[in-house]
Amino acid sequence: MEQTKIILDENEMPKQWYNVLTDLPTPLDPPLDPRTKEPLSPATLEPIFAKALIRQEMSDERYIDIPEEILDIYRLWRPSPLYRAHRLEKLLKTPAKIYYKYEGVSPAGSHKTNTSTAQAYYNMKEGTERITTETGAGQWGSALSLACNYFGLECKVYMVRSSFYQKPYRKSMMTVWGANVVPSPSPETEFGRKILEEQPDTPGSLGIAISEAVEDAVAHDNTKYSLGSVLNHVMLHQTIIGAECKRQLEKVEDYPDIIIGCCGGGSNLAGISFEFIKDRIAGKNNVRVIAVEPSSCPTLTKGEYRYDFGDSAEMTPLLKMYTLGHQHVPPAIHAGGLRYHGDSPIISKLCADGFIEAVSYDQNPVFDAAVQFARTEAIIPAPESAHAIRCAIDEALKCKQTGEEKTILFNLSGHGHFDMSSYDMYFNKELA
Ligand SMILES: *Cc1c(COP(=O)(O)O)cnc(C)c1O
Repeated sequence: MEQTKIILDENEMPKQWYNVLTDLPTPLDPPLDPRTKEPLSPATLEPIFAKALIRQEMSDERYIDIPEEILDIYRLWRPSPLYRAHRLEKLLKTPAKIYYKYEGVSPAGSHKTNTSTAQAYYNMKEGTERITTETGAGQWGSALSLACNYFGLECKVYMVRSSFYQKPYRKSMMTVWGANVVPSPSPETEFGRKILEEQPDTPGSLGIAISEAVEDAVAHDNTKYSLGSVLNHVMLHQTIIGAECKRQLEKVEDYPDIIIGCCGGGSNLAGISFEFIKDRIAGKNNVRVIAVEPSSCPTLTKGEYRYDFGDSAEMTPLLKMYTLGHQHVPPAIHAGGLRYHGDSPIISKLCADGFIEAVSYDQNPVFDAAVQFARTEAIIPAPESAHAIRCAIDEALKCKQTGEEKTILFNLSGHGHFDMSSYDMYFNKELA
């Protein structure tokens, strides 16, 4: 019988993160100081981020050891399972083999705990007492709340207003783990008050919430800020996903031809793909890597590759990335985790250099795929992850046309248990 669930023992869990910066064919364009437009000196970031994370952001070490305290927490849900989607393959009548890595097994329900654990740990080590952050759909806020709880840090979450009201149980979850959650824009920061005055009915955006969280961190000495995607150190922490996948596929003597991830800021895609892109850069494979985004926030497919701010208030460094413009407020779609105007500079560079392709889909075909998946593989996917499923299904259907037996691997970045109202709207034909 062919295996369905490919698991690793605890002692087979990778103990290092992989730093793709050391293998990029040409170096990244550096982040720029927003005032001088000169390359940023690492010291300017110290009021905002833990020093260890700033070092990782610019590290020239190829592999970075994962501290034992972090591995201890990872072991609560890692190694995560890799599944072969036999039933979905059968439904599609495809000769392709479809595998998915399931990151929804983490207590917060997504891959984001891989970096939240690391970020809370390094902050605790350096004496930080409080962490601020933004959250869109709430997955990042939950992941950080969980991690802060473990390392004894206070956690303040600015949650994009549209999600705050659409996803009330995400807020409850963060509260259980001890965080303080407010809708953004909030009256608690200068920038929040300004936006509330100018646009009292705004649904909010990640760009606005980031500005509030950064402003709060800069205003308090004991406080640092934490970002759940986009930055190099976040991509680094997620590489444990791909390292596990590689070992799991070795067990069934397989190797991917196509790797697919949904893309908001790029971290779950980075996580599943960098270990394989490393081999492609070294000329050892010809793997296709596909980033999937919503057509309502088409950063990689329609954005420009240039320097832009990470937030609306122009407080962050300028990053070279694909962007829709930092003032862009995407419509309040159900894949809230994919509503960001920019993208990871590393993912952007790999796209610009032809190592990653990008596609976009509307909400309805994405939910069609989510339901097909839930009815074959049983797991109810997060609307974000369903973008990857849509693309995996389409690639498998292409294989049916051509008769090619390709191996497709996608990242099921999280479950959709807090997104059931979006599924209801889909069934009621109320999705835009
Ligand atoms: C946050 C999130 C995403 C999008 O973020 P990336 O950094 O692009 O991975 C995707 N899926 C889930 C389940 C998320 O929580």
